[in-house]
Amino acid sequence: MAGKEKRLRINARWCKGCGICVAFCPRQVLSLVKDKVRIQSPEKCIRCGMCEMRCPDYAIWLEDIDETEENYG
Ligand code: SF4
Ligand code: SF4
Repeated sequence: MAGKEKRLRINARWCKGCGICVAFCPRQVLSLVKDKVRIQSPEKCIRCGMCEMRCPDYAIWLEDIDETEENYG
């Protein structure tokens, strides 16, 4: 697939541990650990964007990856 990939990003400082993203994720990618979201199974993520859409605190989002960059993973 040409073009941009997306990767899941979280900002734990903004996460208040409400669990909304965990509940809405259709693939059980996410979990809560000590009241913070954790990307438990990143390989299952289908980049649907539900977590980003539902998080009230902008603490989780999909970020474009420029495939020409080397420093990701
Ligand atoms: S993008 Fe979709 S599949 Fe991936 S973590 Fe968010 S809700 Fe789950
Ligand atoms: S919806 Fe946002 S604030 Fe709530 S647990 Fe998920 S990332 Fe944290």
